[in-house]
Amino acid sequence: MSKKNSSVCCPKCGSYSCHPITETDFKDGGYGVLSGLCGYLILGPVGLICGLCGHKSSYKQRTFWICGSCGKRFKW
Ligand SMILES: [Zn+2]
Repeated sequence: MSKKNSSVCCPKCGSYSCHPITETDFKDGGYGVLSGLCGYLILGPVGLICGLCGHKSSYKQRTFWICGSCGKRFKW
């Protein structure tokens, strides 16, 4: 991934210093970061690993852009 993305500009302030981020989105709410953390708190690392294994294929990733100037998050 290139560091400079001069073709993408912020819709809010027009800055070109935007950075892509990837967000993991869990489907059906069966397992998320919060429940993973709960498992971690209750069961320790084993609980976290179990949660991740159980829903290996039930997530998707989305890419967003974050403006380096104003912090605006947007889809391109
Ligand atoms: Zn901006």
